Amino acid sequence: MTIEALRDDFPILRREIHGKPLIYFDNANTAQKPAVVIEAVDSFYRQHNANVARAVHTLSEEATTLYEQSRERIAGFIGAASAQDVVLTSGTTMAINLVAHSWLAPRLKAGDEVVVSQMEHHANIVPWQLLCERSGAVLRVAPIHDDGSLDLEALYGLLNERTQLLALVHVSNVLGTVNPIAAIAEHTRTRGIALLVDGSQAVPHMPVNVSELGCDFYVFTGHKLFGPTGTGALWARRELLEAMPPWIGGGEMIESVSFDGTVYAPPPRRFEAGTPNIAGFVGLAAAIAYLQAQDLAALAAHEQALGARLRAGLAAVPGLRFIGSARDRVAVASFVIDGAHATDLAVLLDLEGVAVRSGQHCAHPLMQRFGVNATLRASLAFYNTADEVDRFLVALAKARGMLG
Ligand code: PMP
Repeated sequence: MTIEALRDDFPILRREIHGKPLIYFDNANTAQKPAVVIEAVDSFYRQHNANVARAVHTLSEEATTLYEQSRERIAGFIGAASAQDVVLTSGTTMAINLVAHSWLAPRLKAGDEVVVSQMEHHANIVPWQLLCERSGAVLRVAPIHDDGSLDLEALYGLLNERTQLLALVHVSNVLGTVNPIAAIAEHTRTRGIALLVDGSQAVPHMPVNVSELGCDFYVFTGHKLFGPTGTGALWARRELLEAMPPWIGGGEMIESVSFDGTVYAPPPRRFEAGTPNIAGFVGLAAAIAYLQAQDLAALAAHEQALGARLRAGLAAVPGLRFIGSARDRVAVASFVIDGAHATDLAVLLDLEGVAVRSGQHCAHPLMQRFGVNATLRASLAFYNTADEVDRFLVALAKARGMLG
Protein backbone atom coordinates (compact mmCIF):
# COMPACT_ATOMS: atom_id res chain seq x y z
CA MET A 1 0.00 0.00 0.00
CA THR A 2 1.27 3.47 -0.85
CA ILE A 3 -0.34 6.73 0.12
CA GLU A 4 -0.27 7.80 -3.53
CA ALA A 5 -2.38 4.76 -4.44
CA LEU A 6 -4.82 5.54 -1.62
CA ARG A 7 -5.08 9.14 -2.78
CA ASP A 8 -6.38 7.87 -6.11
CA ASP A 9 -9.41 6.58 -4.20
CA PHE A 10 -10.40 10.17 -3.33
CA PRO A 11 -11.51 12.00 -6.51
CA ILE A 12 -11.52 15.47 -4.94
CA LEU A 13 -7.81 15.25 -4.10
CA ARG A 14 -7.11 15.67 -7.83
CA ARG A 15 -8.70 19.14 -7.81
CA GLU A 16 -6.88 22.37 -8.35
CA ILE A 17 -7.72 25.51 -6.39
CA HIS A 18 -6.68 28.85 -7.95
CA GLY A 19 -4.56 26.87 -10.39
CA LYS A 20 -2.64 25.06 -7.62
CA PRO A 21 -2.99 21.42 -6.54
CA LEU A 22 -5.37 21.19 -3.58
CA ILE A 23 -3.72 20.65 -0.18
CA TYR A 24 -6.62 19.65 2.02
CA PHE A 25 -5.65 20.25 5.66
CA ASP A 26 -9.17 20.81 7.02
CA ASN A 27 -9.97 17.22 7.89
CA ALA A 28 -11.11 17.97 11.43
CA ASN A 29 -13.85 20.08 9.89
CA THR A 30 -14.99 17.42 7.48
CA ALA A 31 -13.08 14.65 5.73
CA GLN A 32 -13.08 13.87 2.00
CA LYS A 33 -14.91 10.83 0.63
CA PRO A 34 -13.44 7.90 -1.27
CA ALA A 35 -15.08 6.97 -4.58
CA VAL A 36 -16.58 3.83 -2.99
CA VAL A 37 -18.67 6.07 -0.71
CA ILE A 38 -19.85 8.29 -3.55
CA GLU A 39 -20.63 5.20 -5.64
CA ALA A 40 -22.53 3.52 -2.78
CA VAL A 41 -24.79 6.56 -2.43
CA ASP A 42 -25.21 6.79 -6.21
CA SER A 43 -25.96 3.09 -6.50
CA PHE A 44 -28.50 3.25 -3.66
CA TYR A 45 -30.51 5.89 -5.49
CA ARG A 46 -30.12 4.17 -8.86
CA GLN A 47 -30.85 0.62 -7.73
CA HIS A 48 -32.47 0.38 -4.31
CA ASN A 49 -34.21 3.61 -3.36
CA ALA A 50 -37.28 3.09 -1.17
CA ASN A 51 -38.29 3.97 2.37
CA VAL A 52 -37.23 1.70 5.21
CA ALA A 53 -39.42 -0.62 7.26
CA ARG A 54 -42.71 0.55 5.79
CA ALA A 55 -43.55 -1.61 2.82
CA VAL A 56 -43.18 -5.27 1.94
CA HIS A 57 -42.10 -4.68 -1.65
CA THR A 58 -38.66 -5.73 -2.76
CA LEU A 59 -37.08 -2.31 -2.93
CA SER A 60 -38.24 -1.44 0.57
CA GLU A 61 -36.82 -4.69 1.87
CA GLU A 62 -33.52 -3.98 0.15
CA ALA A 63 -33.38 -0.45 1.56
CA THR A 64 -34.20 -1.73 5.04
CA THR A 65 -31.55 -4.42 4.80
CA LEU A 66 -28.90 -1.92 3.66
CA TYR A 67 -29.84 0.48 6.45
CA GLU A 68 -29.67 -2.24 9.10
CA GLN A 69 -26.40 -3.55 7.64
CA SER A 70 -25.01 -0.06 8.13
CA ARG A 71 -26.00 -0.20 11.81
CA GLU A 72 -24.19 -3.53 12.09
CA ARG A 73 -21.12 -2.19 10.31
CA ILE A 74 -21.00 0.77 12.73
CA ALA A 75 -21.50 -1.49 15.75
CA GLY A 76 -18.64 -3.75 14.65
CA PHE A 77 -16.39 -0.78 13.98
CA ILE A 78 -16.77 0.64 17.50
CA GLY A 79 -16.85 -2.69 19.32
CA ALA A 80 -20.50 -2.54 20.41
CA ALA A 81 -21.82 -5.83 21.77
CA SER A 82 -25.00 -5.50 19.70
CA ALA A 83 -26.13 -3.42 16.72
CA GLN A 84 -29.31 -2.80 18.72
CA ASP A 85 -27.26 -0.62 21.08
CA VAL A 86 -26.49 1.80 18.24
CA VAL A 87 -28.91 4.63 17.50
CA LEU A 88 -28.44 6.19 14.07
CA THR A 89 -28.56 9.98 14.21
CA SER A 90 -27.83 12.90 11.92
CA GLY A 91 -24.47 13.42 13.65
CA THR A 92 -22.79 14.12 16.94
CA THR A 93 -24.90 17.18 17.67
CA MET A 94 -28.15 15.23 17.41
CA ALA A 95 -26.72 12.30 19.38
CA ILE A 96 -25.73 14.56 22.29
CA ASN A 97 -29.07 16.34 22.23
CA LEU A 98 -30.80 12.96 22.33
CA VAL A 99 -28.93 11.99 25.51
CA ALA A 100 -29.61 15.43 26.97
CA HIS A 101 -33.36 15.29 26.38
CA SER A 102 -34.09 11.61 26.79
CA TRP A 103 -31.63 10.52 29.47
CA LEU A 104 -30.54 13.58 31.44
CA ALA A 105 -33.58 15.88 31.38
CA PRO A 106 -35.94 13.53 33.25
CA ARG A 107 -33.45 13.05 36.11
CA LEU A 108 -31.83 16.49 36.40
CA LYS A 109 -32.96 18.46 39.46
CA ALA A 110 -32.12 21.89 40.85
CA GLY A 111 -28.73 21.71 42.53
CA ASP A 112 -27.51 18.75 40.44
CA GLU A 113 -24.31 19.14 38.49
CA VAL A 114 -23.11 18.36 34.98
CA VAL A 115 -19.37 18.48 34.31
CA VAL A 116 -17.71 19.29 30.98
CA SER A 117 -14.15 20.34 30.21
CA GLN A 118 -12.65 23.56 28.92
CA MET A 119 -11.74 21.86 25.64
CA GLU A 120 -15.28 20.94 24.54
CA HIS A 121 -16.85 21.72 21.18
CA HIS A 122 -20.02 23.82 21.55
CA ALA A 123 -22.02 20.67 20.68
CA ASN A 124 -20.88 19.23 24.03
CA ILE A 125 -21.53 22.42 26.00
CA VAL A 126 -24.70 24.14 24.84
CA PRO A 127 -27.14 21.18 25.15
CA TRP A 128 -26.10 20.73 28.80
CA GLN A 129 -26.16 24.46 29.43
CA LEU A 130 -29.73 24.67 28.12
CA LEU A 131 -30.85 21.85 30.43
CA CYS A 132 -29.09 23.33 33.44
CA GLU A 133 -30.71 26.71 32.85
CA ARG A 134 -34.11 25.08 32.68
CA SER A 135 -33.75 22.83 35.72
CA GLY A 136 -31.64 24.94 38.08
CA ALA A 137 -28.72 22.51 37.80
CA VAL A 138 -25.14 23.75 37.61
CA LEU A 139 -22.71 23.27 34.72
CA ARG A 140 -19.18 22.89 36.05
CA VAL A 141 -16.03 23.11 33.97
CA ALA A 142 -12.89 21.00 34.36
CA PRO A 143 -9.76 23.05 33.58
CA ILE A 144 -6.91 22.10 31.27
CA HIS A 145 -3.15 22.57 31.62
CA ASP A 146 -1.17 25.07 29.55
CA ASP A 147 -0.06 22.28 27.18
CA GLY A 148 -3.71 21.49 26.38
CA SER A 149 -3.97 18.30 28.43
CA LEU A 150 -6.82 17.74 30.83
CA ASP A 151 -6.15 18.55 34.51
CA LEU A 152 -7.25 15.15 35.80
CA GLU A 153 -6.75 16.01 39.45
CA ALA A 154 -8.98 19.06 39.11
CA LEU A 155 -11.51 17.05 37.11
CA TYR A 156 -11.77 14.32 39.75
CA GLY A 157 -11.98 17.02 42.43
CA LEU A 158 -15.04 18.50 40.72
CA LEU A 159 -17.01 15.25 40.74
CA ASN A 160 -19.27 14.72 43.74
CA GLU A 161 -22.56 13.14 44.79
CA ARG A 162 -24.51 15.86 42.93
CA THR A 163 -22.78 15.08 39.61
CA GLN A 164 -25.22 13.42 37.20
CA LEU A 165 -22.98 13.33 34.15
CA LEU A 166 -19.46 13.96 32.92
CA ALA A 167 -19.46 14.87 29.20
CA LEU A 168 -15.99 14.80 27.71
CA VAL A 169 -14.36 14.92 24.33
CA HIS A 170 -12.19 11.92 23.36
CA VAL A 171 -9.94 13.97 21.04
CA SER A 172 -10.03 17.77 20.95
CA ASN A 173 -10.84 19.27 17.53
CA VAL A 174 -8.60 22.28 18.31
CA LEU A 175 -5.75 20.96 20.46
CA GLY A 176 -5.54 17.44 19.09
CA THR A 177 -5.25 16.21 22.69
CA VAL A 178 -6.26 12.58 23.25
CA ASN A 179 -7.94 12.25 26.64
CA PRO A 180 -7.33 9.08 28.72
CA ILE A 181 -10.94 7.93 28.51
CA ALA A 182 -10.45 4.39 29.84
CA ALA A 183 -8.85 5.69 33.07
CA ILE A 184 -11.49 8.39 33.46
CA ALA A 185 -14.26 5.83 32.86
CA GLU A 186 -12.86 3.62 35.59
CA HIS A 187 -12.98 6.59 37.93
CA THR A 188 -16.53 7.66 37.06
CA ARG A 189 -17.77 4.06 37.24
CA THR A 190 -16.52 3.56 40.78
CA ARG A 191 -18.17 6.83 41.77
CA GLY A 192 -21.47 6.00 40.04
CA ILE A 193 -21.30 8.93 37.62
CA ALA A 194 -22.40 8.58 33.99
CA LEU A 195 -19.80 9.36 31.32
CA LEU A 196 -20.59 10.56 27.80
CA VAL A 197 -17.71 10.66 25.33
CA ASP A 198 -17.71 12.81 22.19
CA GLY A 199 -15.69 10.69 19.78
CA SER A 200 -16.11 12.90 16.68
CA GLN A 201 -12.37 13.46 16.28
CA ALA A 202 -11.27 10.07 17.62
CA VAL A 203 -12.85 7.55 15.25
CA PRO A 204 -11.06 8.90 12.14
CA HIS A 205 -7.64 8.49 13.78
CA MET A 206 -7.59 5.52 16.15
CA PRO A 207 -9.32 2.23 16.90
CA VAL A 208 -12.21 2.77 19.30
CA ASN A 209 -13.80 -0.03 21.29
CA VAL A 210 -16.70 1.21 23.40
CA SER A 211 -16.91 -2.04 25.35
CA GLU A 212 -13.26 -1.70 26.42
CA LEU A 213 -13.40 2.05 27.06
CA GLY A 214 -16.01 1.55 29.76
CA CYS A 215 -17.95 4.75 29.13
CA ASP A 216 -21.76 4.92 29.22
CA PHE A 217 -22.46 6.90 26.04
CA TYR A 218 -20.24 7.30 22.96
CA VAL A 219 -21.17 9.58 20.05
CA PHE A 220 -19.61 10.39 16.71
CA THR A 221 -20.39 11.91 13.35
CA GLY A 222 -20.07 10.19 9.95
CA HIS A 223 -18.79 13.03 7.80
CA LYS A 224 -15.45 13.25 9.63
CA LEU A 225 -15.10 9.49 9.16
CA PHE A 226 -14.98 9.80 5.34
CA GLY A 227 -18.75 9.21 5.11
CA PRO A 228 -21.64 11.44 4.03
CA THR A 229 -22.87 14.46 5.99
CA GLY A 230 -26.04 14.01 8.01
CA THR A 231 -24.97 10.68 9.51
CA GLY A 232 -23.75 9.75 12.97
CA ALA A 233 -24.42 7.49 15.90
CA LEU A 234 -25.06 7.20 19.60
CA TRP A 235 -23.91 4.06 21.33
CA ALA A 236 -25.12 3.57 24.89
CA ARG A 237 -25.09 0.79 27.45
CA ARG A 238 -28.21 -1.29 26.88
CA GLU A 239 -29.79 -0.66 30.29
CA LEU A 240 -29.50 3.11 29.77
CA LEU A 241 -31.12 2.92 26.32
CA GLU A 242 -33.92 0.75 27.73
CA ALA A 243 -34.62 3.33 30.43
CA MET A 244 -34.70 6.28 28.03
CA PRO A 245 -38.12 7.58 26.96
CA PRO A 246 -38.60 8.76 23.37
CA TRP A 247 -37.54 12.32 22.61
CA ILE A 248 -38.71 13.04 19.07
CA GLY A 249 -42.10 11.52 18.24
CA GLY A 250 -43.39 10.42 14.88
CA GLY A 251 -43.51 7.48 12.53
CA GLU A 252 -41.09 4.53 12.71
CA MET A 253 -40.54 4.82 16.48
CA ILE A 254 -43.77 3.16 17.62
CA GLU A 255 -45.28 -0.32 17.97
CA SER A 256 -48.85 0.98 17.97
CA VAL A 257 -50.58 4.34 18.18
CA SER A 258 -54.06 5.12 19.45
CA PHE A 259 -55.55 8.19 21.06
CA ASP A 260 -55.78 6.20 24.27
CA GLY A 261 -52.04 5.70 24.33
CA THR A 262 -49.07 4.85 22.17
CA VAL A 263 -46.68 1.95 22.61
CA TYR A 264 -43.14 2.81 21.66
CA ALA A 265 -40.74 0.58 19.79
CA PRO A 266 -37.74 -0.76 21.71
CA PRO A 267 -34.37 0.98 21.30
CA PRO A 268 -32.84 1.85 18.92
CA ARG A 269 -35.96 2.35 16.75
CA ARG A 270 -37.64 4.30 19.57
CA PHE A 271 -35.15 7.09 18.92
CA GLU A 272 -35.35 7.13 15.13
CA ALA A 273 -38.61 8.93 14.34
CA GLY A 274 -39.26 9.84 10.72
CA THR A 275 -37.49 8.85 7.53
CA PRO A 276 -33.76 8.58 8.18
CA ASN A 277 -30.84 9.47 5.91
CA ILE A 278 -30.89 6.02 4.30
CA ALA A 279 -28.50 6.79 1.44
CA GLY A 280 -26.18 8.54 3.88
CA PHE A 281 -25.92 5.45 6.07
CA VAL A 282 -25.31 3.26 3.04
CA GLY A 283 -22.43 5.63 2.27
CA LEU A 284 -21.17 5.55 5.86
CA ALA A 285 -21.15 1.74 5.80
CA ALA A 286 -19.05 1.92 2.61
CA ALA A 287 -16.65 4.38 4.31
CA ILE A 288 -16.19 2.06 7.28
CA ALA A 289 -15.74 -0.98 5.02
CA TYR A 290 -13.10 1.00 3.12
CA LEU A 291 -11.25 1.78 6.34
CA GLN A 292 -11.51 -1.79 7.57
CA ALA A 293 -9.82 -2.96 4.36
CA GLN A 294 -6.75 -0.81 5.12
CA ASP A 295 -3.81 -1.40 7.40
CA LEU A 296 -5.08 1.08 9.98
CA ALA A 297 -2.01 0.82 12.21
CA ALA A 298 0.21 1.76 9.25
CA LEU A 299 -2.07 4.66 8.36
CA ALA A 300 -2.05 5.92 11.94
CA ALA A 301 1.76 5.74 12.02
CA HIS A 302 1.92 7.65 8.72
CA GLU A 303 -0.40 10.33 10.13
CA GLN A 304 1.66 10.63 13.32
CA ALA A 305 4.86 11.04 11.28
CA LEU A 306 3.20 13.74 9.18
CA GLY A 307 2.00 15.49 12.34
CA ALA A 308 5.54 15.48 13.73
CA ARG A 309 6.94 16.85 10.45
CA LEU A 310 4.30 19.58 10.42
CA ARG A 311 4.99 20.62 14.00
CA ALA A 312 8.74 20.62 13.49
CA GLY A 313 8.30 22.90 10.47
CA LEU A 314 5.90 25.18 12.28
CA ALA A 315 8.16 25.39 15.35
CA ALA A 316 10.75 27.15 13.15
CA VAL A 317 8.31 29.92 12.12
CA PRO A 318 9.21 33.17 13.93
CA GLY A 319 6.52 34.41 16.31
CA LEU A 320 4.46 31.19 16.10
CA ARG A 321 2.77 29.85 19.22
CA PHE A 322 1.12 26.43 19.31
CA ILE A 323 -2.24 26.18 21.03
CA GLY A 324 -2.05 22.63 22.30
CA SER A 325 1.07 20.54 22.59
CA ALA A 326 0.05 17.68 24.87
CA ARG A 327 2.12 14.52 24.58
CA ASP A 328 -0.76 12.30 23.54
CA ARG A 329 -2.24 13.89 20.42
CA VAL A 330 -3.44 13.39 16.86
CA ALA A 331 -2.08 15.18 13.78
CA VAL A 332 -3.81 18.50 14.38
CA ALA A 333 -1.84 21.74 14.78
CA SER A 334 -3.54 24.90 16.02
CA PHE A 335 -1.41 28.01 16.26
CA VAL A 336 -1.23 31.79 16.20
CA ILE A 337 1.51 33.93 14.65
CA ASP A 338 2.45 37.37 16.01
CA GLY A 339 1.26 40.18 13.77
CA ALA A 340 -0.74 37.95 11.40
CA HIS A 341 -4.44 37.29 11.86
CA ALA A 342 -5.43 33.66 11.36
CA THR A 343 -8.19 34.52 8.90
CA ASP A 344 -5.90 36.71 6.76
CA LEU A 345 -3.43 33.83 6.66
CA ALA A 346 -6.19 31.36 5.71
CA VAL A 347 -7.34 33.59 2.83
CA LEU A 348 -3.78 33.88 1.50
CA LEU A 349 -3.21 30.15 1.92
CA ASP A 350 -6.35 29.45 -0.09
CA LEU A 351 -4.76 31.34 -2.99
CA GLU A 352 -1.96 28.75 -2.79
CA GLY A 353 -4.45 25.89 -2.94
CA VAL A 354 -4.30 25.19 0.82
CA ALA A 355 -7.54 24.54 2.73
CA VAL A 356 -7.19 25.18 6.47
CA ARG A 357 -9.63 26.41 9.08
CA SER A 358 -9.25 29.71 10.85
CA GLY A 359 -11.40 31.05 13.66
CA GLN A 360 -12.71 29.76 16.95
CA HIS A 361 -13.53 26.19 15.86
CA CYS A 362 -16.86 26.11 17.77
CA ALA A 363 -14.82 26.27 20.98
CA HIS A 364 -15.15 29.81 22.34
CA PRO A 365 -14.36 28.83 25.97
CA LEU A 366 -11.14 27.19 24.79
CA MET A 367 -10.10 30.35 22.93
CA GLN A 368 -10.79 32.32 26.12
CA ARG A 369 -8.68 29.85 28.11
CA PHE A 370 -5.68 30.55 25.87
CA GLY A 371 -6.38 34.28 25.50
CA VAL A 372 -6.65 34.20 21.71
CA ASN A 373 -9.53 35.29 19.48
CA ALA A 374 -8.78 32.83 16.68
CA THR A 375 -6.28 30.18 15.64
CA LEU A 376 -5.19 28.71 12.36
CA ARG A 377 -5.71 24.97 12.35
CA ALA A 378 -4.09 22.43 10.05
CA SER A 379 -5.70 19.02 10.55
CA LEU A 380 -4.38 16.00 8.69
CA ALA A 381 -5.79 12.71 7.44
CA PHE A 382 -4.08 9.52 6.25
CA TYR A 383 -4.29 10.65 2.61
CA ASN A 384 -2.05 13.67 3.23
CA THR A 385 1.62 13.46 2.31
CA ALA A 386 5.01 14.75 3.49
CA ASP A 387 5.26 16.70 0.24
CA GLU A 388 1.99 18.47 1.07
CA VAL A 389 3.31 19.33 4.53
CA ASP A 390 6.45 20.83 2.99
CA ARG A 391 4.47 22.80 0.40
CA PHE A 392 2.12 24.01 3.14
CA LEU A 393 5.08 25.33 5.14
CA VAL A 394 6.37 27.21 2.08
CA ALA A 395 2.89 28.63 1.40
CA LEU A 396 2.60 29.71 5.04
CA ALA A 397 5.96 31.50 4.93
CA LYS A 398 4.84 33.29 1.76
CA ALA A 399 1.50 34.29 3.30
CA ARG A 400 3.22 35.48 6.47
CA GLY A 401 5.62 37.57 4.36
CA MET A 402 2.73 39.22 2.51
CA LEU A 403 1.20 40.42 5.79
CA GLY A 404 4.34 42.42 6.54
N1 PMP B 1 -17.65 17.53 18.62
C1 PMP B 1 -16.45 17.71 18.07
C2 PMP B 1 -15.21 17.42 18.87
C3 PMP B 1 -16.35 18.14 16.75
O1 PMP B 1 -15.14 18.33 16.19
C4 PMP B 1 -17.54 18.39 16.01
C5 PMP B 1 -17.49 18.89 14.59
N2 PMP B 1 -16.58 19.95 14.38
C6 PMP B 1 -18.77 18.18 16.63
C7 PMP B 1 -18.78 17.75 17.94
C8 PMP B 1 -20.06 18.42 15.92
O2 PMP B 1 -20.28 17.47 14.93
P1 PMP B 1 -21.52 17.59 13.93
O3 PMP B 1 -21.53 19.02 13.47
O4 PMP B 1 -21.20 16.65 12.83
O5 PMP B 1 -22.75 17.25 14.70
